Amino acid sequence: MKYALIIVSVSHSNIDHIFHYGIPENLRARIEIGMRVIIPFGKSNKKIEGYVTGFSDEADVDEGLIKDIVDICESYPIISSKRIELANWMKEKYYTTLSSCMQCIIPKKVNEKNFACVVLNSENESLDSEIEKVLKKDTKQKRVLELLLRGEEIPVSHIKNFLETDDAPINALVKKGIVKKVYEQVYRGNFNISSVKRAEAPELTREQKRVCDIIYDEMDNFTGKPVLIHGVTGSGKTEIYLRAIEKALKQGKEAIVLVPEISLTQQTVERFVSRFGDRVSVTHSRLSDGERYDQWTRARLGEISVMIGPRSAVFTPFENPGVIIIDEEHETTYKSDQLSPKYDAREVAQKLGQLYKCTVVMGSATPSVTDYYKAEKGEYRLAVLENRVNNLYPNVEIVDMRKELIKRNFSVFSEKLKYAISENLKKGEQTILFLNRRGYSTFVSCRECGYVMTCKNCNVNYTYHKGINKLNCHYCGASVNVPQVCPVCGSRHIRYFGTGTEKIEQEVNKYFPEARVLRMDMDTTKRKNSHQKILDRFRNGEAEILIGTQMIAKGLDFANVTLVGIIAADLSLNIGDYRSSEVTFQLVTQAAGRAGRAEKKGNVFIQTYSPKQYSIVCAAENNYLRFYNEEINYRKNMVYPPFTNIFFIMFTGVNEGLVKQRISELLYVMKHYNKNNMFTHLGPSPAVISKINNNYRWQIIVKCEDEVKLRNYVIFCIEKLNKSVDLKGIKIHLNMNPNYM
Ligand code: ADP
Ligand code: ZN
Ligand code: ZN
Repeated sequence: MKYALIIVSVSHSNIDHIFHYGIPENLRARIEIGMRVIIPFGKSNKKIEGYVTGFSDEADVDEGLIKDIVDICESYPIISSKRIELANWMKEKYYTTLSSCMQCIIPKKVNEKNFACVVLNSENESLDSEIEKVLKKDTKQKRVLELLLRGEEIPVSHIKNFLETDDAPINALVKKGIVKKVYEQVYRGNFNISSVKRAEAPELTREQKRVCDIIYDEMDNFTGKPVLIHGVTGSGKTEIYLRAIEKALKQGKEAIVLVPEISLTQQTVERFVSRFGDRVSVTHSRLSDGERYDQWTRARLGEISVMIGPRSAVFTPFENPGVIIIDEEHETTYKSDQLSPKYDAREVAQKLGQLYKCTVVMGSATPSVTDYYKAEKGEYRLAVLENRVNNLYPNVEIVDMRKELIKRNFSVFSEKLKYAISENLKKGEQTILFLNRRGYSTFVSCRECGYVMTCKNCNVNYTYHKGINKLNCHYCGASVNVPQVCPVCGSRHIRYFGTGTEKIEQEVNKYFPEARVLRMDMDTTKRKNSHQKILDRFRNGEAEILIGTQMIAKGLDFANVTLVGIIAADLSLNIGDYRSSEVTFQLVTQAAGRAGRAEKKGNVFIQTYSPKQYSIVCAAENNYLRFYNEEINYRKNMVYPPFTNIFFIMFTGVNEGLVKQRISELLYVMKHYNKNNMFTHLGPSPAVISKINNNYRWQIIVKCEDEVKLRNYVIFCIEKLNKSVDLKGIKIHLNMNPNYM
């Protein structure tokens, strides 16, 4: 063992390479695979981090050129060899570099002293006058204070980065008693875990027992098949997750629970903590690098055994995971569409499952069509919960908004919903008004017959582009004029869709001036913890009406909410995407599931211009199977996933002519190598958002049933293109089966 094989921790494709380094005598006995080390790198011998991935007796270059490792960072391997294998798998699967996968798996190391936070010292009685004194002079202390005057705790490391300063001004303020350091709260993120009371497990229902038995069986006799729980909202899935975790802990193993970030509320966390106490920890996107690293280390060292968190929690470095749970498995947030590697946490979980012989449990009231299809084919074990634990279901009514127009009601509320809201206010019960708005796209429809302008080639809705006043199809690139009259009924009432939550709030204020209203959307939840604060206020009865986007549809459980109004179900139905029916079914079902969770009967009104559309009808009936059967037929007929894979290629650049030319050249290359017409190409066409920051965006979509062949083909063709033309000025974005087109 003369040399260590090192992968460097720099995300840059041309150094995605294993380097040989010498091992100095003093490290020889201690060095292991998976350790993090400091190495000199490049001409300047800059000190950077790397990971030991193996050893060798042979040098890959002239021995004299090999440099020595400087030091090791921790006394233990930071990453197991199985996780190095995972990184290699991710590199192939998500066509990226090994080092970017390693960075995903291992959070940034941060000096531990740095992740203390500071906050204004409210115990200081002369705080105001002290602050004034500091603010008089233009000093670094003043600038630190200005940050803290917003009232939140801020990590010391952030202040130092932001103001480009050292500790001195912070320490001076601490000394004066104006600010104080806090450590405790950051440790567990923003969730208050210590005050949660222990709770006993309830007796399982017969259905729950059956589902648990399937999971236990898989945990005892590993077949490698994930278990998919299809259970209506309120059927007791979370209780089943708790039992699976309990079993893992009894086996001396650990558990990971993935939940969508927006469902990661205090209420959710408490259910796990009440059962497993301080063996539970939480991670989420608002943690600082230091906090995240801290969580990660505690898991690595076995201080905790259950980790709850969003997508990235799948990388929690447990030594011996027994179960990975994915709640609301249909959620698109499990796939990262923006950052590289564009990994899918469900796929990573399944890979980990194979590597560690660990059971993967996925649960949803509305499983993704692709996953249910896999269960149907026997790739997953299916477990079903048919009934709500309390056996209470809301009344669901579809309201045909076309008829409101005839009644000359131009409000966003139908007569029925308006009446129901006023009745609910009288009873002192709460209402949720829900707008399933998504993305930026606007569609065009007929107000009289509900017909939505649709591309004949692709059977998806046209998207309206205001700038050019045209309708575009984002699949085939077709572009047509906006019709003056409805092609179906001849009406002149053409409608450009796009209602916002603010508009709804205005109307609520107009019709129900006495009601107290909370609004939750991207605008009102930008600040730290504002999401949780709005929910807490609603739970405490500080408002009668909560208005929100899909953010409020998930997993919330409010006993006093007895009315849910879905304002415009069509918004998600017409997003110009083959998944629009699926998304609509999921959103409407989830939103409806918020009504009548406790003893009081719930009512749901679904307002729509397409009252016969199957995703709306089936959601109203709470009939997943009927929806699934319709949807899978449509996918089969149109050759959409799961019957094919869609590889999405986008070129961007400031010179639109060049972007168009290069992507057309790529198409030319692809057609040349498309020997047996195994691959189908669509485009080039402008992207949904055709220009961002003056960068033009053009795309090609390639389809093929075989995922591996498709990936290899696209990568191969892009490399060919790169060899024959200059790609300077062009950025290439690749995404396999993106959430949205
Ligand atoms: P889901 O996760 O499927 O939406 P939950 O696990 O949240 O369902 O269960 C719904 C409600 O029923 C919760 O209030 C939960 O405490 C309760 N519950 C679940 N299982 C049982 C049980 N076996 N006995 C009594 N109550 C239960
Ligand atoms: Zn019409
Ligand atoms: Zn089309």
